[in-house]
Amino acid sequence: MTRTAIITGSTSGIGLGIVEAFAARGMNIMLNGFGDADEIEATRAALDAVSDGTVAYHGADMTKPEEIEDLIRTTETMFGAVDVLVNNAGIQHVSPVEDFPLAKWDAIIAINMSSAFHTIRAALPGMKARKWGRIINVASAHGLVASPFKSAYVTAKHGIVGLTKTVALEAAADGVTVNAVCPGYVLTPLVEGQIPDTAKARGLTEEEVKRDVLLAAQPTKEFVTVEQLGALCTFLASDGAASMTGTALPVDGGWVAH
Ligand code: NAD
Repeated sequence: MTRTAIITGSTSGIGLGIVEAFAARGMNIMLNGFGDADEIEATRAALDAVSDGTVAYHGADMTKPEEIEDLIRTTETMFGAVDVLVNNAGIQHVSPVEDFPLAKWDAIIAINMSSAFHTIRAALPGMKARKWGRIINVASAHGLVASPFKSAYVTAKHGIVGLTKTVALEAAADGVTVNAVCPGYVLTPLVEGQIPDTAKARGLTEEEVKRDVLLAAQPTKEFVTVEQLGALCTFLASDGAASMTGTALPVDGGWVAH
């Protein structure tokens, strides 16, 4: 049976890595996220060509509940079900809390946290009715521990871990699992974009930020890869993971073991 997955924020970085792993398993996939329309179409067509499943794209903005509802309904209409929902879209802003721009706070809470409430509330009834579903929330090591200057992000990621546990309890008897994955640093555009701001906030060079701030937290001294996260999400989406629910799984080179 061909499963259908939605991965929010999958035009780049970790989301795209998860899509590539799912496509290799022949799943039907609904891509989502921003970017150049021609580049997105080229990505969609390339994935569609290599996968046994069908790869489509929906451009829902994760700050807009009505567009999120349309993402879920369109996928259900196109493929007959949403079996796997990966809430991955996210942004970052680095600033001391007293200077944190209000619009950035609101956007991070909306995209990194509230969007998962909106996707889940729309997709869960169908999963429960079919007695099978997998919800994977891409949280962060920052869903388990904090770092300075990331108040909105750490708040949203702790919130998504709480949402994960709550929905896991509500859906446990219906064959639906809900888990959070908590990556350490992955060298994606999101991380590359915050290096200059972190350098400014801490008075460091960009190389010092990579070595002394980002990888200082990871005992392996290696960035986590999108392939590693794709492999974990593939397992969580499988029947073998049926008894794993309500977890927040660190994938962080040992960071939160400190
Ligand atoms: P990225 O910037 O490479 O990708 C973010 C994706 O989200 C893109 O596809 C972008 O278009 C999409 N997006 C942004 N705003 C959106 C909106 N309003 N509506 C729909 N899509 C939107 O970043 P990434 O590093 O791949 O991050 C993906 C997730 O992983 C985020 O939730 C992030 O917090 C989390 N994460 C990243 C790291 C890391 O080190 N990169 C670590 C832990 C957790």
